[in-house]
Amino acid sequence: MVLEKLGSSLRNAVSKIMGKSVIDEAAVNEFVREVQRSLIEADVDVKLVLEISRRIKERALKESPPPGFSRRDLAVKILYEELTNLLGRKPAEIPMESKKTNVIMMVGIEGSGKTTTVAKLAFWLSKRFGKVGIISADVMRPASKLQIEQLVGPDIPVFSKESKDPVEIMREGIEFFKRERYNFVIIDTAGRHKDESSLMSELDAYREIGPDLVILTIDGTIGQAAYAQARAFAEKVPVGGVIVTKLDGAAKGGGALSAVAASGAPILFIGTGERVDDLERFDPERFVSRLLG
Ligand code: GDP
Repeated sequence: MVLEKLGSSLRNAVSKIMGKSVIDEAAVNEFVREVQRSLIEADVDVKLVLEISRRIKERALKESPPPGFSRRDLAVKILYEELTNLLGRKPAEIPMESKKTNVIMMVGIEGSGKTTTVAKLAFWLSKRFGKVGIISADVMRPASKLQIEQLVGPDIPVFSKESKDPVEIMREGIEFFKRERYNFVIIDTAGRHKDESSLMSELDAYREIGPDLVILTIDGTIGQAAYAQARAFAEKVPVGGVIVTKLDGAAKGGGALSAVAASGAPILFIGTGERVDDLERFDPERFVSRLLG
């Protein structure tokens, strides 16, 4: 379970307000203060926290509860809705056409968990949508092919070849998997270094290959910095979805999740561990329901 600390402190705020006999302005203020504290502790951007608090307070005092709801229930319902809004509301779709080989290109900063996530996604897709192949085109780190193979085991083929030209590897890999009628191909590209802005040209590879979907991996432990990172990539290539990784150990994962959502890039999955099946589909409503218990 991710973000346990945020969940338990939000649930605490909820159970306190549920125990009150009268929901007046003082009770709402106390509730909002506790929600604020929980979100700030989870590293959610202060401006977003203030905006959410203002909306909860205003709505909880002004709106009338729907039939069968008490004012207490209303406050909790509003919290649920505002948190869901913060995270993007609806789950983002994974585009897929059944009669072709769908090509996904993974991009991200080195160390963000990109290669691990390629393996996880391949595993996830193969369980649901048939044949999945991987192209290892990380020419900066040839050992990543072995890393992927160790993660996925013998069931998912990993294509690579000795070459300094990632586009050549990608092209040949796509041809190979198309011939074999694979449903999905996932391309692992070389990770961009934090301080090198022009080393890897994701845009060149994108233009040459024309993938159906570009997925960006972002390390969930970097908190607010996730916003700038998601924006920077999305300005270079059309990022169709983000996977926020390492949300298992990070008590502060709320920061990265809300930051990415605020950048406008839809979150497709979250990574919750180092194993190949530690990947969860990100559905804001389900996520918030689980958070609030
Ligand atoms: P890359 O350089 O972006 O390709 O990153 P790697 O895939 O090699 O991952 C870097 C490190 O992060 C490795 O030690 C992975 O096991 C670890 N890692 C990746 N995803 C997760 C995750 O969701 N949770 C945890 N705890 N570790 C992860």
